[in-house]
Parts: sequence; structure tokens; C-alpha cells
Amino acid sequence: MRAVDGVSFSIARGETLSLVGESGCGKSTVGRSVLGLLPVDGGEIHLDGVRIDTLTAGRMRAMRKRMQVIFQDPFSSLNPRLKVRDIIAEPITNFHPAVRAEEIERRVASLLEKVGLPRDAIGRWPHEFSGGQRQRIGIARALAANPELIVCDEAVSALDVSVKAQIVNLLQDLQRELDLSLLFISHDLGIVAHMTHRVAVMYLGRIVEIGTRDAIFLQSRHPYTQALLSAAPQVEPSAAKRPRVILRGEIPSAANPPSGCRFHTRCPHAFERCVKEEPQLRRVSSLHESACHLNDERPLQ
Ligand code: SF4
Repeated sequence: MRAVDGVSFSIARGETLSLVGESGCGKSTVGRSVLGLLPVDGGEIHLDGVRIDTLTAGRMRAMRKRMQVIFQDPFSSLNPRLKVRDIIAEPITNFHPAVRAEEIERRVASLLEKVGLPRDAIGRWPHEFSGGQRQRIGIARALAANPELIVCDEAVSALDVSVKAQIVNLLQDLQRELDLSLLFISHDLGIVAHMTHRVAVMYLGRIVEIGTRDAIFLQSRHPYTQALLSAAPQVEPSAAKRPRVILRGEIPSAANPPSGCRFHTRCPHAFERCVKEEPQLRRVSSLHESACHLNDERPLQ
């Protein structure tokens, strides 16, 4: 089964690219492949000019400290048998074994301050903290290795609305301060609209539309993106109110994807060509690509 196929994108330093789509579309598979947590059968992954999908285990280990992850569930992603000090110190001791104990203590304290946790958190256990505080611990752990890229895999999905906003604001502040690149995987278009620079929309293992935040939220050209946006609360106040598009049926199995355009079984605009021919991503404006045959009939923006 090809969980993800023909997916191609880049993320600049200091940029956030969000991957959005329904669950099962392959977003998390992409994130884990980028991190080297899942093997890829084809294609290439580069970090700062270095191809990383073919590196030996030893060289990949050196690269890994440059890429970290923040997982969805702040309750299961922290080791309950370690105190906060040891959770945050783990990447430092793993990737920088020569760092002395006093320096580790100082660095952990500084990371706690950076993510807005009190100093005394250092000697406490994960179960003593709320979900939002635990996610802050997860962010401090991700920052401990001094990464350049952080994959946020539904990192705020499990949090209450007000806590979500705090964590997203924290990620934005840290991004500006540390020039971090973020691959932000989420199904929450409201959060994505608030914090992303660019968006890639995935459907059944493929990117069907990719562009700047404004291109996707204000001028989407793909029927799937339009359906997703119509089902979300008014995420972009300046956008015209969208008519609700009801998608028929369930997302098909990635093991046996439909012929032609993978979205044709649910697309309200599907026509004969869509069943036979797979549309390719095509530039529809300078910073916007969309994969839909209807683009052939519309002028470029
Ligand atoms: Fe719909 Fe056809 Fe466009 Fe696919 S190519 S999104 S089926 S109109």
C-alpha cells in the first residue's frame, strides 16, 4: 500500500508549512518520514542541502538532533517515570554527551523559563501538570537539542481552546526568536489560519493544493480544499461566506485508491476526464499550485 505518493514540498528557515486534510490522508506519515521514523520506498528527503533518507544510522543520528517532534498527546508522550529535569535533559545528554551536569541543569532551567513554566517544575513529575503545561514540557524537550526543524504532529489538537491559543502563540514566539522551521500537521483549519505561512492540503496520500496562507484560505482552487473550508467555522474573517459543500461518502482506502483523480468519488464537480486521468499539481498563481482538471478551463490568477 502506498500511504503517501508523489508528495513534494519544501520549508524555508523560519517558515511554517501546515499539512492539512482528513484523518487517514497521510499527513502524519509524511511527518514521520521526514523525521526518519518511517522508511521511505522512493523519493528523496533533504535537510539543509544534505540528502538524509539514505544516510547510515550513525550519520542520521547526527542529523536527528536538527529535527525534533512534538506529539499530539501530552499525557502519553512524556515518560511518567522521569522527572521534568530528566525528560528535558535526555536530548541534551543523547546528542551532546560531553556537556557537564551543571551546564545541563542551567540549560534545563533556561528552557523551562522559555516555555513559561516555573523554575520549581524541574524537580516535579509529569502527572503533576495540566495538559497545556505538559505540552510546554514537550516543547522544552524538543528545543533542548537546538533543532532547526520541529514537526508538530497535531501538537495542539488534544488541548482546550484557550490552552491551544497559548501554545500556538508560544510556538510562534519561539519560531521568531530561534528562526525555527515548523511542519505543522493539523486538521484544525482555524489554528492553521492563525499561525501558518503556507499550507499543503492532502487527500488520500497526495498533495492536492499548496500555497500561501492567503492563497489557500482566500482563493482556493481545489474542490476538496473548498469543501474543507466550507465545513470549518469562518476561519478567515475577510473571506466571503462560503456555501457549505457536503462531501458524499467516506474517504476511500489508500490501499485501493480510485482511478484518475482520487477525489472524484466525492467531488461535486467531477466529470468524465476525472475518472480516467490523474490531475497534476499546476501553478495557478505565483505562489499557489492546485491539482484539478478544472484549472485547465480557468485563467491563471
Ligand atoms: Fe473534482 Fe475532477 Fe477536480 Fe478531481 S479533477 S477535484 S474530480 S473536478
